[in-house]
Amino acid sequence: ADLVPDDAALIERRKNALGPAYRLFYEEPLHLVRGEGVWLWDGQGRKYLDAYNNVVSVGHCHPKVVEAITAQAQVLNTHTRYLHEGPVAYAERLLATMPDALGHVMFTCTGSEANDLALRIARSSLGREGVIVTRHAYHGVTEAVSELSPSLGRFVPRSARVRLVDGPDALRIPPEEQGARLAADLARAIGEMRADGIEPAAFICDTVFSSDGLYPDPKGFLQPAVDLIRAEGGIFIADEVQPGFARTGEAWWGFQRHGLAPDMVTMGKPMGNGFPVSGVAMRPGLVAEFGAGARYFNTFGGNPVACAAGMAVMDVIEDEGLHENARKVGGALKAALADLCAGRDDIADVRGAGLFIAVECVRDRDGAAPDGARAAFIVNHMRRNGVLISATGPGGNILKIRPPLVLREDEAAILVDALKAALLAG
Ligand code: PMP
Repeated sequence: ADLVPDDAALIERRKNALGPAYRLFYEEPLHLVRGEGVWLWDGQGRKYLDAYNNVVSVGHCHPKVVEAITAQAQVLNTHTRYLHEGPVAYAERLLATMPDALGHVMFTCTGSEANDLALRIARSSLGREGVIVTRHAYHGVTEAVSELSPSLGRFVPRSARVRLVDGPDALRIPPEEQGARLAADLARAIGEMRADGIEPAAFICDTVFSSDGLYPDPKGFLQPAVDLIRAEGGIFIADEVQPGFARTGEAWWGFQRHGLAPDMVTMGKPMGNGFPVSGVAMRPGLVAEFGAGARYFNTFGGNPVACAAGMAVMDVIEDEGLHENARKVGGALKAALADLCAGRDDIADVRGAGLFIAVECVRDRDGAAPDGARAAFIVNHMRRNGVLISATGPGGNILKIRPPLVLREDEAAILVDALKAALLAG
């Protein structure tokens, strides 16, 4: 389909106004005008199944969230230096979903800012600088946090205080060895850091390793790495920006799959269903000295409207049984995709947890060479058929399927049909 003339003009204006660092999804970019539930519409009235957006995890424009935002915006929106029920009650509610060891929440506006604050508190409280992340991690965009985001590409700052470990790998590492391999590589990274006179402050990872290619299993495999960083005097920071808020089906948080209590938890994306809300939960001991010595004020973080949005999202997750829905519909979708891909030479693995599923495209199953071009073809074919997904991982070859948590089984079937058509097409 050719772009409508107005869109071609808008793409030109966009290039001129926003500059070269912005990207559009798809060979034929989408110009969306409306969203509801798992559906998006373009200006021609064409409808798309959104199977990618994990920000609007309770569905696009959920009326309860819109209503909560609107109602609070009509009454008061200010910052956290006045007494207000909003941030206190919201922090209490978040903490109630977490292990007892986590006792405070601090609010920010983006996932990057949450990780940036976690990093600052970790480094200042431990008096150590070293941080270890996975080789294809993404933790955000600030100057400090982009160091922790090797997946950002060429212009990521590199410093000796950040070291990389290999992420999990479902194709090359047997599941029962995943935990020991990660811990062994962490030991190597800590050793190399120490050889340069840098002490390890933290190991931070996305608890389902989203940008490394999505590795939620086997349950518990993170524990040896977490034990190790603690034994070496550092802390474990769980980045829950992607796995958090019921995405994986069983629990509120991805780290719960591993039976862990992190020292800090960072949260963002789905927290406000599109309204900018993020935060860090932490062990109180970590922030005691920082809190006494440094004033922390974030102009927009934790404002009453943000907290109203966050509360409404948690209400909807509970009221609509979205944990259960993610588990049930996600489980059925994963099984259907596994059936569809069984025996194919070009798909090496279908994996996932809840409504977060990866399909790994390879050039041949035995060699398992990543096939990013094939993944891109499938993503664009599905988009032309009205189903939106994307691809991730070091080779860009892993289809990333991550619909809003309100997806129903009949809607999941539309996705399976679209993937089937793409696989048949080329
Ligand atoms: N951590 C993870 C795991 C993420 O996926 C992202 C966003 N993709 C971030 C942090 C950064 O969040 P934000 O874009 O809100 O700054």
